[in-house]
Amino acid sequence: MDTEIDGNTLAAMSLSKFGVEHMFGVVGIPVTSLANRAVSLGIRFIAFHNEQSAGYAASAYGYLTARPGVFLTVSGPGCVHGLAGLSNAAVNTWPTVLISGSCDQNDFGRGDFQELDQINAVKPFSKFSVKPNHISEIPSSVAQVLDWALLGRPGGCYLDLPSNLLHQKISQSEAQNLLTEAQNNRVKTEIPFSVPNSKIDEAALLLRRAERPLIVFGKGAAYARAEHALKKLVETTGIPFLPTPMGKGLLPDTHALAATAARSLAIGKCDVALVVGARLNWLLHFGEPPKWSKDVKFILVDVSEEEIELRKPYLGLVGDAKHVLEVLNKEIKDDPFCLGNTHPWVEAIANKAKENVAKMEVQLSKDVVPFNFLTPMRIIRDAILGLGSPAPIVVSEGANTMDVGRSVLVQSEPRTRLDAGTWGTMGVGLGYCIAAAVASPGRLVVAVEGDSGFGFSAVEVETLVRYQLPVVVIVFNNGGVYGGDRRSPEEINGPYKDDPAPTSFVPNAGYHALIEAFGGKGYLVGTPDELKSALSESFSARKPAVINVVIDPYAGAESGRLQHKN
Ligand code: ADP
Repeated sequence: MDTEIDGNTLAAMSLSKFGVEHMFGVVGIPVTSLANRAVSLGIRFIAFHNEQSAGYAASAYGYLTARPGVFLTVSGPGCVHGLAGLSNAAVNTWPTVLISGSCDQNDFGRGDFQELDQINAVKPFSKFSVKPNHISEIPSSVAQVLDWALLGRPGGCYLDLPSNLLHQKISQSEAQNLLTEAQNNRVKTEIPFSVPNSKIDEAALLLRRAERPLIVFGKGAAYARAEHALKKLVETTGIPFLPTPMGKGLLPDTHALAATAARSLAIGKCDVALVVGARLNWLLHFGEPPKWSKDVKFILVDVSEEEIELRKPYLGLVGDAKHVLEVLNKEIKDDPFCLGNTHPWVEAIANKAKENVAKMEVQLSKDVVPFNFLTPMRIIRDAILGLGSPAPIVVSEGANTMDVGRSVLVQSEPRTRLDAGTWGTMGVGLGYCIAAAVASPGRLVVAVEGDSGFGFSAVEVETLVRYQLPVVVIVFNNGGVYGGDRRSPEEINGPYKDDPAPTSFVPNAGYHALIEAFGGKGYLVGTPDELKSALSESFSARKPAVINVVIDPYAGAESGRLQHKN
């Protein structure tokens, strides 16, 4: 007999058929059954406490796997909490799908339970949104959001599932037909190669003729898995390179041509910059003086034509970073050139980098107690390096913690750094950790976070414990946002002047005890030996752990290195 299934089951069947292996989310009315069905069909559903973290997880999963990160929320407030993840995906250009249940269409406008016009609410952050009108439209809607998330410039998409549709029924045979039809209508998401030969020739010529060329790459190149093509380009041409924070690791930070430690010189003096999968936004000082020379010729490689039009580079190559670099490598191979170690530009960058690294090492080598940011970061760096390959995925957020971590921690493998990203989003840490552990089974995940960043979603340590994920969260605990009470005397005024400062948290908070409440392992450390021992034990155990590192509250700077934006 042809049995009937409901909309929840059909949505779960669609997700499974169209290749979804993991989902993140928070269940409740009307989507609990969808999650349960998905699990019964072989999808791993990671249940969070808060949709915000689930959304951050989905966005990072999209980035790490180049497949849509899918997260599920309830209607109304659940969808609104999910906007955090969707917007983060949109801004970072990561393929992500938010699926929210919504109120009964027949009761919309009458103040139904958790009623919201969700299609309108997601509009600013969604590349493509769809709300099926009948159960029969569920398979095609699921296929569309999954495809659109990947298409062209990746980003966030939204699927709205009204509760009345989730309870509608359809026969099994009709459902199978609809699934097959939707599968047959799927859109090809591979990026076609359409860069004219003349542009590739011109790019090769510009690099060849440059006196001070530089290759800059970002998380778009990481997403495109362009590491082999980049390595080949850098090593055949001998051109120094500069990764953006999340581009770090595509080529090892320790590479002889790495200009990271000579960043100001590299961007200030280069005459041709090949920028691959990185926007000339605030992170790259908009590509403008005084940080860059006014005469620099930019060659931009980006999948988004819109991005190239916005920046108006000297030369724009619209396409997939890996593909474009492979074709460029072929072109260069026919008439090779290499700057060599004694080239004045290469030498200048290498010398400056060596000088800066040596200066930093002097600071790092000191054992400062109570801890500043540098001493524990050096100890963490060395412990991570001691693990060898595969390197752990490092998640980093916080003002000073993230800034110091970016310069001290060494990245040598692609896509091993997740941080606050394009939007400087704080609170992403736990979600990213969970995504990284789920996306890369067997790999250790190490979060190095400020106490403020950690606090946004600290209860997700329970999620770590529940799923027994190999995540070690190191909290730099300096008692607040930027640490301590930094108000000037004239700011300490008014009837509430005796309240704690807006930047302060409870001093000496026991973050390690939080994970212990759920059965995880907690460590409280304040000296180099205590930290070394906690790292060694937790890295070998590969079980959920929180290391609460007590930092001098006055050690950091307000807003880290972004004081000028405050
Ligand atoms: P970063 O923060 O590392 O500087 P951005 O997020 O600013 O990087 O830039 C990433 C860029 O990469 C975006 O403009 C996006 O359009 C682009 N991008 C995404 N996927 C690809 C791809 N496959 N090939 C080339 N560029 C890509």
